[in-house]
Amino acid sequence: MATTTLDEEQKQELEQIEIWKCKQPECKAWTRKEFIKEELPDCPLCKNPMVRSYKHVPVVNKKGNKKFLVGKGRA
Ligand SMILES: [Zn+2]
Repeated sequence: MATTTLDEEQKQELEQIEIWKCKQPECKAWTRKEFIKEELPDCPLCKNPMVRSYKHVPVVNKKGNKKFLVGKGRA
């Protein structure tokens, strides 16, 4: 029997979302734009202004969409 290989990584679909991110390069803070009500939010960590940007995040499969999991191996 072959041993388990490391290439089991599933191809994760990515989606582009709009975010606010901190202007400070050293600061990693960012948040989804849809969560922000203010027009010009401040960074919750360092209180610097935030800038509009984009980010790629894995697509989250909605619960109940079990058909997508069929045939993907044992749970
Ligand atoms: Zn910050």
